[in-house]
Amino acid sequence: MATGGSATAPLYRCGQPRKQFAEPLRIVLLGATGSIGGQTVDLVLHYPDRLRLVAVTAHRSVEQLRSVIDTLHRVCPDQPLPAVAVTEPRAHEQACADEVLRDLLLPGADTGLIDAVRQPPAVDCVVNALVGAVGLAPTLAAAGRGVRIALANKESLVVGGELVRAAVAAGDAELLPVDSEHSAIAQCLVGRQASEIANLILTASGGPFRDWPASALADVSLEQVLNHPTWDMGPKITVDSATLMNKGLEVIEAHHLFGLPYDQIEVVVHPGSYVHSLVEFRDGALLAQLGSPDMRVPLLYAISGEMRWPLATERLDLVQAGKLEFAAPDPERFPCLRLAREAGREGGRMPIVLNGANEVAVAALLERRIGYLDIPAVIEQTLATSDGGPVHDLEHALAVDREARAVARTFAGSS
Ligand code: NDP
Ligand code: MG
Repeated sequence: MATGGSATAPLYRCGQPRKQFAEPLRIVLLGATGSIGGQTVDLVLHYPDRLRLVAVTAHRSVEQLRSVIDTLHRVCPDQPLPAVAVTEPRAHEQACADEVLRDLLLPGADTGLIDAVRQPPAVDCVVNALVGAVGLAPTLAAAGRGVRIALANKESLVVGGELVRAAVAAGDAELLPVDSEHSAIAQCLVGRQASEIANLILTASGGPFRDWPASALADVSLEQVLNHPTWDMGPKITVDSATLMNKGLEVIEAHHLFGLPYDQIEVVVHPGSYVHSLVEFRDGALLAQLGSPDMRVPLLYAISGEMRWPLATERLDLVQAGKLEFAAPDPERFPCLRLAREAGREGGRMPIVLNGANEVAVAALLERRIGYLDIPAVIEQTLATSDGGPVHDLEHALAVDREARAVARTFAGSS
């Protein structure tokens, strides 16, 4: 399967009624110990009668997982605790030794993500808050269960957009975006048809180096890379935001979600981060969704099936926000955006190679083994070794991913 750059059937079905579930909604939360995962737990605690966790997963952060379970027990003492999966082998052993977690623990570390999706007797919604391509297999498993998928894990679509589309259709599942830009677009599309869209306009904060001259970028420190101006997020997406790879991945995500060709998906830099994205319709009208940067808003919009449940968020003060500021992204200083667009247009294996190389490069940066400017270099070198071609199925996608990572490691100076 190769999508290339042309229009495809949209994964996000605008204008269609959403699945109806009795409350409380039974939720599987993949990645409960991360930034999006923690905010999902906050929402569940805020709505104990409407939302219920039936399974949660962690990779390494066993203590944090224990604290999630303790909090659930304290706030909702009468409710059954969720099953837990711990996917990193040593952390899994640690969880086996924990007096509370061991009674809730799903047995296999390596099968934990899939088991968390498949084993609960009844599930309404899977929140995929994992980071990286590891999120693809559980997204496909969730699609096979025919549930609502609240998808934060954009890498699922970058690596397996076509596979996810086929699985969602075959399983009669429902996929709703959590990423703030794609949620903004979905919110602008209420009551509209995909055929009415002329262009999607994704906004980007521009990251911490938005106004830095190219000459200064060679010497940036890891601390400067991690100092995002507007959003507080996990480390990988924070690095991706500094290189603008995050926006590149989001362009590919938007292509799969909304079915538009790449030349109808634009990116503008918007330093304020309060216009979350826009849709330009074929009559020239532009619709935008605005708000303070708070991921709980798009999260709740997806989990609730696009209902507007009340939420105490910081309200955006338009007068204080002042001017609407937009600029074109600079392709010279931020080559990752171009690399992602090119890989997306080519389709097939190329987005998998792009993503695998990026994950390797970001990990190397976080371990201080390479510098900021090495990230696009590692990705470009890895892409140059790939022949492209179609992707047949999940196993094939994972094999291409493994191979790309092995190649990227040679360029990132790691084994
Ligand atoms: P975090 O790094 O904060 O959390 C990632 C979660 O995934 C953790 O629970 C972590 O477990 C788990 N995890 C990591 N590696 C593995 C693995 N190999 N196998 C199984 N589980 C694993 O990420 P974020 O919450 O920031 O991001 C999650 C997703 O949401 C990403 O795709 C990101 O792009 C997207 N997103 C995030 C936003 C944000 O504000 N954070 C905004 C928009 C999109 P543990 O901690 O236990 O090791
Ligand atoms: Mg985003």
